[in-house]
Amino acid sequence: MKKKQFKTESQKLLDMMINSIYTHKEIFLRELISNASDALDKLHFRSLTDSEVAIGRSDYAINIKVDKEARTLTVSDNGCGMSREELESNLGTIAKSGSFEFKRDNEQGEDIDVIGQFGVGFYSAFMVADKITVRSRVYGEDIAYEWESEGADGYTVTECDKPTFGTEILLRIKADTEDEKYSEFLEEYRIRSLVKKYSDYIRYPIKMEVTKSRKKEGSENEYESYRETETLNSMVPLWKRTASEVTKEEYNAFYTEKFYDYEPPLCTVTQKSEGTVTYNALMFVPSHAPFNYYTKDYERGLELYSSGVLIMERCADLLPEYFGFVRGVVDSADLSLNISREMLQHDRQLGVMAKAIEKKIKQELSKLMNSEREKYERFFDAFGIQLKYGIYSDYGMHKDTLVDLILFHSSKENKYVSLKEYTDAMTETQKYIYYATGESAAKIEMLPQLEAMKARGYEVLYLTDDVDEFTLKVIGKYSDKEFKNITSEAEDLATDDAKESVKRENEDSKEMLELMKEAIGKVSEVRFTASLVKHPVCLSSKGELSVGMEKVLSKMPGADEGAPKAEVALEINSSHPISNTLKALYETDREKLKKYAKILYSVASMISGVSVDNPLELCELVSELMI
Ligand code: ADP
Repeated sequence: MKKKQFKTESQKLLDMMINSIYTHKEIFLRELISNASDALDKLHFRSLTDSEVAIGRSDYAINIKVDKEARTLTVSDNGCGMSREELESNLGTIAKSGSFEFKRDNEQGEDIDVIGQFGVGFYSAFMVADKITVRSRVYGEDIAYEWESEGADGYTVTECDKPTFGTEILLRIKADTEDEKYSEFLEEYRIRSLVKKYSDYIRYPIKMEVTKSRKKEGSENEYESYRETETLNSMVPLWKRTASEVTKEEYNAFYTEKFYDYEPPLCTVTQKSEGTVTYNALMFVPSHAPFNYYTKDYERGLELYSSGVLIMERCADLLPEYFGFVRGVVDSADLSLNISREMLQHDRQLGVMAKAIEKKIKQELSKLMNSEREKYERFFDAFGIQLKYGIYSDYGMHKDTLVDLILFHSSKENKYVSLKEYTDAMTETQKYIYYATGESAAKIEMLPQLEAMKARGYEVLYLTDDVDEFTLKVIGKYSDKEFKNITSEAEDLATDDAKESVKRENEDSKEMLELMKEAIGKVSEVRFTASLVKHPVCLSSKGELSVGMEKVLSKMPGADEGAPKAEVALEINSSHPISNTLKALYETDREKLKKYAKILYSVASMISGVSVDNPLELCELVSELMI
């Protein structure tokens, strides 16, 4: 029999599709199952208005059959079926399908108008099959038809025998090649896992006869295999159920199983939206960061479903990077599908959903912070740094979203506080939000300036992550209060009287301080201060760049000698006995004074968490003192 040719544009599309559109060959099964499910929907819909159609809701099913010997895989349904004309027009022209029309003005023989999308789901089966046979009978009709094709060179349509209504699609699976093991699609376990992965929430049962094994009757250790029909999909998606009817255990089990976590999530977030875009989202905040979370291997994203059919495993566009830790699924019936199941990125609806999802996550995190503080702190320990990077990145574009979600350790009782809590507790006289940087809270507590702040009763935020100080710089101000590093020179807490007398002292010892500065060679100034309490010396920075920031920048890849340096001053406690020692040495032994200056600078650096440039020199200087 003469083969009918696919319309030319179909042929090209077919080639193109087989070779390039779908990255994963395995999705062909999802496409066939989705079509079958649509066909069941159509018949069911007809049954609602047409009393001729007598089929019970529970009779609908999709069946899968594999025959390894014959190398065939069959997907069948008892849905609406296709007439001869439908077989020709639906399968004979790729573009002419369901939701989209491929417009061509044939009479004029021109103007091929391919607008964006066309249904080619069915044809994806040619990625794994070298021959496809479709047998179909419309419900209520007597005659069935068979459509058959071996790919781009054409197809035939003939009458055939088919005792039941519906559609049966038989694929002859390609022979294995060196690169592709097509035989995997003849393995029961593979089919089962593909159904689970892509089609678990199809509303109709997807059945397959599988081989199982059991103990032989009357035998202790002999087994026999038998065949049994199994429903492979779980059918009802958890996220479609009303949240109040689902138990916490069910949500937790769903999470741990789906996202391979050994711990239940810290919190579960559900969202049902019926605005511009209708969708259900079920999301989770994990209890701990996955092992690869802070590496470039981690891929963020939510699973995206279209009416229960998986479209994308990690849709990154649905989650901003700073909420990248959230796992979950989003299901919408509004997404435009067809070919672009793989090419959704530019979908406008996706943008609308992403915005609403971000808002929801923020809301839930705020709620957690206010009502379940302990849990929130656990969350923050795992993912807080991500939020802080979120503030810092994109030039602070997202700071308003995130600023109230971040916490810092504080000098008061060494517990976490938010910026709101900090500013709410500020007294009228306190002008700034104070912070200090260091490797750990313990190291920060050693800072001489901290002692001074504590003595004055001011609360200080402890910044222990590299990104912290940069984050605060991006935030700029909170509740109209500026941030102030307690090691910055501008922060002089001394009383007016004390300031006045220190000023005089600095003037009187100008030459001595200059000599010390020259000896050290790395500071912009050496001066007396009245801010310190018991500590003899400290380093303080001038201007925007602090010692801590300098340290972080110098660790960055590519930072060499060119990395920016903080401008630092060595401050000497004017009420500490060391002041008098230094002044006396200026009169009696200037060489010794220079050595002392170096020692004091080195120890002040260490206290600030900066390593000493020349530890050997320090060692010599200190030993000299002991001889
Ligand atoms: P799409 O599903 O995206 O419209 P397909 O190429 O997958 O595109 O299918 C083309 C058309 O063929 C469908 O729109 C449908 O009308 C018809 N069709 C495919 N499979 C079946 C089936 N199992 N039963 C009935 N009709 C089907």
